[in-house]
Amino acid sequence: MKPLPSIYSPANYALNEYIAAVQEGRVSPSGVTGATRDGDIIRTTYGKTLGNNLVVWNLEYYTLSPSEMGFHTLHEALHQIPGFSDEVIAAAARTISGRTDSIDDPSIYFNNRLREYCP
Ligand SMILES: [Zn+2]
Repeated sequence: MKPLPSIYSPANYALNEYIAAVQEGRVSPSGVTGATRDGDIIRTTYGKTLGNNLVVWNLEYYTLSPSEMGFHTLHEALHQIPGFSDEVIAAAARTISGRTDSIDDPSIYFNNRLREYCP
């Protein structure tokens, strides 16, 4: 991986890395649903980044609007940056915000922060 050039934002850098992943065949459909039941709540995982920066998209991803697909693509693209995990982002955002409560789901917390800054 190239060093992070200072003129690029992490989002630009991440999206360039995502494009490289597509070109290298590291992005693919999972072929399965990302919906899971948590009590009365159905949670949907649209995609995830696995080891070796492999991105898989669940069936529900392909039903999203273009802007929602872009949002989730940006999320997974950010995971192309080494160490850019949901947990790291959630912890950093919590520290910056001054929150002291625990964060139950780092991925959802990360998405909420992304939505705040990338509406
Ligand atoms: Zn994530």
